Amino acid sequence: MTTPSTVLITGASSGIGATYAERFARRGHDLVLVARDKARLDTLAARLREEHGVAIDILPADLTQSNDLAAVEARLRDDARIGILINNAGATQSGSFIEQATEDVARIVALNTTALVRLASAIAPRLAQAGEGAIVNIGSLVGLAPEFGMSVYGATKAFALFLSQGLSLELSPRGVYVQAVLPAGTRTEIWERAGVDINTLPELMDVGDLVDAALVAFDRRELVTIPPLHDGAHWDALNAARQALVSDIRQAHVAERYRTAP
Ligand code: NAP
Repeated sequence: MTTPSTVLITGASSGIGATYAERFARRGHDLVLVARDKARLDTLAARLREEHGVAIDILPADLTQSNDLAAVEARLRDDARIGILINNAGATQSGSFIEQATEDVARIVALNTTALVRLASAIAPRLAQAGEGAIVNIGSLVGLAPEFGMSVYGATKAFALFLSQGLSLELSPRGVYVQAVLPAGTRTEIWERAGVDINTLPELMDVGDLVDAALVAFDRRELVTIPPLHDGAHWDALNAARQALVSDIRQAHVAERYRTAP
């Protein structure tokens, strides 16, 4: 029997990331856990080692800081035992765009997009060379819904979805599985961290249910996983509409509706 590959999980100190850590440990995978809060990572790692007998390294890092990010990239590049990256660390912010400070906007973009793509870039060549492995990017339903009024957060999550779709096309022929997971509202600390009172929100999904569903889809090698979407045909229809639009593009010719002044 082959040894399960090591899983590196970002944002593993709480919520979805901590739940992925518990589920992969239960499956017998060794782990590398990344987040800023070393004490919480230590506590989680001690519990999972004790309960599941797996090896766990912790790698404290603020993924918005270039030195910390570089250390995680180096680990992904150099540690051939790591075969699965769970690109989960992320944050949101409250308020409308004009209420959000530019520095805070930049920090959200750095964490949700720059760190995500740099970590994928660090591991992908090695996985492609090995002809196996997986990259899971945690997006959000918000990335499909500008109507939700979370423009910057949603844009970063649209980035995660698009990147996953593109990387899947590039990497699946090389044996590397890419998954985008799009949760909707899920009961974690993300709300409190963004200054949103969780009690003001409609019913949320339990984080264990979310991760278990994402792992059912992971085992099936599904590309885009939306656990709270009950009729999967809606996703297929959206994707088909997008492909129809792209196939109707005739790039050398201006469309008729732009040829006359209003
Ligand atoms: P969470 O409990 O707040 O977890 C966020 C994780 O990211 C924590 O482990 C946090 O740990 C880590 N993190 C935050 N800033 C970081 C930084 N600068 N550097 C490194 N790690 C950092 O929230 P969650 O809901 O589990 O979020 C996980 C992912 O799910 C995010 O990408 C989020 O956008 C996405 N998501 C969540 C929901 C939802 O409703 N909960 C819905 C859709 C998508 P430290 O504080 O220790 O660094």
